[in-house]
Amino acid sequence: MSCKKLYLENMDCMQVTACVIGCTARSDGSYDIETDVTPLFPEGGGQRSDIGMMNDADILHCREENGTVIHQVTSAFAVDETVEIRVNAPLRRLHTQQHTGEHILSFAYQKLFGAVNVGFHMSEDVVTIDLDRMLTPEQVAEGELYANELLWNNGEVKIYTVTAEEMQTLPLRKKNEKLTGGDIRIVEIEGGEMCTCCGTHCNMTGQVGMIKVLEHIKYKQGCRITFACGELALRWFAMENDMLRKTAAKLSVKPDGVPEALQRKEEQISAVHAVLRQKNMQLAAIYTEKLMKASAETENGPVYGGYVPVDTDAAKRIAEQLCEAEPTALAALFCDDGGRYRYFCMAGEKCEKNCRDAAKVINAALSAKGGGNPKTAQGSFEALPADGFEALLKTL
Ligand SMILES: [Zn+2]
Repeated sequence: MSCKKLYLENMDCMQVTACVIGCTARSDGSYDIETDVTPLFPEGGGQRSDIGMMNDADILHCREENGTVIHQVTSAFAVDETVEIRVNAPLRRLHTQQHTGEHILSFAYQKLFGAVNVGFHMSEDVVTIDLDRMLTPEQVAEGELYANELLWNNGEVKIYTVTAEEMQTLPLRKKNEKLTGGDIRIVEIEGGEMCTCCGTHCNMTGQVGMIKVLEHIKYKQGCRITFACGELALRWFAMENDMLRKTAAKLSVKPDGVPEALQRKEEQISAVHAVLRQKNMQLAAIYTEKLMKASAETENGPVYGGYVPVDTDAAKRIAEQLCEAEPTALAALFCDDGGRYRYFCMAGEKCEKNCRDAAKVINAALSAKGGGNPKTAQGSFEALPADGFEALLKTL
């Protein structure tokens, strides 16, 4: 005996008295329960599962298995026990809006541009359809408007069953060739199309509320259209409107002034960066001169360097200038680059020292991370040494 699926015939039925046929414990602590009848739609055909209640227990998910519906429930029920099954109606309505909206939008793109729906997926917050060809942004918008006009016309959504032979004679958008026997369920949208489908639908297209395309990207040979319908579209609008208004307030402009204000900010930041670069390079010249006067003499040549209040690029510039001025020298510069300390080592052309070795000494002394090659090395560290860098330079 398999479960009678009420959602196939009467999608307005949200509650039913049922008899438990089977109950199996699951490894996650919930139970798989089969009943003789259910109003809950199981996940399938792109549509998400209904959830609901079985007496006072939560129905977390429903799936179809061997033609019957298995409810995943938080409590166990005895076989032959009578239970009340209730659908979570707001979530059902939300799923239904997405599914009917999906049929209508797919129909619009096929009718207007010959783009065929080859994939449909409904997630918690968006719906996607995959079309077999790329559309231009203008075509996407035209299809969206066409689909919404079908909602405003408030046509009837008819659901009926036909035989496999009858199906062959119908002008269906999507024919499921796997369906060869039994009753085949057809969803027909007034002013639109007909299509085989097992999902739940609105009774009138107006109940979909709105179809809003959110994104359109290239996908495989065609494109993927991400959209939201009805209540989901409203949630997206509320969230994006809120974000836009907060961003506009931060920028002290009206919402439609945000792109221009951001452009201006970008230009300002670029200008400040250019000035900073210039100042850093001026500082680099000053510090090169200062550091040239104070080298740490070691067995195999001088070491120049220490802490410099400049960015990494300027520290590198100082090292280059020191090594150019004194080719036998090793330069080791330490700086603060936006909240993280960095070091940079460079060996002059005639320097006998190896920067990789110098990096190892620095890493050990400062708990730093880094490395390099014989001629240059770099790394980062967390804290400046309390006694400065003079003693460290002598050990390089
Ligand atoms: Zn469908």
